[in-house]
Amino acid sequence: MAIATKIAAFIERASWIRKMFEEGERLRQLHGADKVYDFTLGNPDVEPPPAFDEEFRRLALDPIPGMHRYMNNAGYDETRSAVAEVLAEASGLPVKGAHVIMTCGAGGALNVVLKTILNPGEEVIILTPFFVEYKFYIDNHGGVPVEVWTDRATFQLDIPAIEAAITPRTRAIIICSPNNPTGVIYPAESLRTLGEMMKRKEKELGGQIYVISDEPYARISYDGKNVPNIFPHVENAVIVTSHSKDLALPGERIGYLAANPRMAEVEQFMEGAVFSNRVLGFVNAPALMQRLVAKLQRESVDIALYQEKRDLLCDTLTALGFSLVKPDGAFYLFPASPLADDVEFVRAAQRHNILLVPGAGFGAPGFFRVAYCVEKGMIERSLPAWRALAQELGL
Ligand code: PLP
Repeated sequence: MAIATKIAAFIERASWIRKMFEEGERLRQLHGADKVYDFTLGNPDVEPPPAFDEEFRRLALDPIPGMHRYMNNAGYDETRSAVAEVLAEASGLPVKGAHVIMTCGAGGALNVVLKTILNPGEEVIILTPFFVEYKFYIDNHGGVPVEVWTDRATFQLDIPAIEAAITPRTRAIIICSPNNPTGVIYPAESLRTLGEMMKRKEKELGGQIYVISDEPYARISYDGKNVPNIFPHVENAVIVTSHSKDLALPGERIGYLAANPRMAEVEQFMEGAVFSNRVLGFVNAPALMQRLVAKLQRESVDIALYQEKRDLLCDTLTALGFSLVKPDGAFYLFPASPLADDVEFVRAAQRHNILLVPGAGFGAPGFFRVAYCVEKGMIERSLPAWRALAQELGL
C-alpha cells in the first residue's frame, strides 16, 4: 500500500465527506446547480468586510520593504499586540503580545497547542458533538481522544460528566463556543464552574490540565448575545481561533493562539508553542495576512445577514416539525434526525436534492447538521423541498 494503514483507515472513517461531495456533484449535473440545496460546508458565502479591501489596497500601493521575508516564528509584534489589546479588553486581564502567536488558521493553532503539551498516550477530552478534525489532530501528536457528551437536550457543558472522564492521563479538554455543529454559546457561569472543577482536579491529580478554547465563531453571535471570554474563568486556558469565519478569510489561513496570562509557567508554554509552530513546518503565519488583520481586530462580516438566515431556517424547520435547539451563534443548526438512523435520513433528504451531514460525522448519531453560511436565495429555493421531505416522513 502506498500510504500508511492508519491514514487509509482515517480516510475510510471520514469517507462520508467525500461521499457527500460526490453526491452533490452528481445531483448538480443531473438537475442543475440552482436545484440542489447544499448545506454541507462551513465555507462562508459572504465576502470579507470593506475594511479588508481598503487595507489590502493601501498595502499594495505602499509596500513595506522586507514585508515578504521570514520573521519571528511567533509573528509580527505589531499584529500580536493588536490581537492582545482586544483580548485584554474582553478578559479584563493583562494579555500582551508575548501571549499571542499568529498561526495558519485555528486548525494550525490547535495542532501547535497539542504538539506543545502532549506526551505520547495522554488523553484529550472532546465534547460530543465535536468538530470532525479534533480526533485527527489529537492523533497527529500521539494523544488519545476521550469523547464526553454535552447535555443531549441543550448541548450545554455537562461538567459532572467531564469531571468523571478526567484521569491521571488527561492533559487537555477542547471546548468550542459558539459551537460547531450546535451553535450554542457556553455562558460565563458554566465556564466558571468548569474552571473551578479543573482547579480541583489539577490539585487532586497533581498536574496541569489545559482548556483549549476553540473559538473561530466568537464574533458570530445573535440577538446581542455575549460570548464570554474564557480567561477570567479558567487559568490554564489557551484560546485558538482564526479569521476564517469572522472576516470570511478561510483560504488565507490566518489565525492565532493566545495563552491566559495567569496560566502556570506561561513563558515556558509560549516558548514551546513558538517552537512547535516552527517545526510543524508552518514556520510562521502568512506575512501579508498578518499585516492586514492587525488593522481589522474590531471588524467582522455583517452578522445580521447570518441571523436572517438562521431565523428563516429555524422558523421553517420548527414549523415543519423538526426538533432543534435554536443556535445563539456560529452558522449551523443541529436538529434531531426524524429517523432513528441519521444516515438514512440524510439519504432521504438527498432524494429532495437537500445535502446535509449526518450527526454520526460529529460523533453524534441521531442528529444532522445544516450549514447555513450559504446564499439566502438558495435557502428560499430549498423551502418547498424541506416541506416535501417533512411530508414524506409524516412530520
Ligand atoms: N474549529 C472549528 C470548530 C471549526 O469549525 C473550524 C473550521 O470550520 C476550525 C476549527 C478550523 O478553522 P481554520 O479554517 O481557521 O483552520
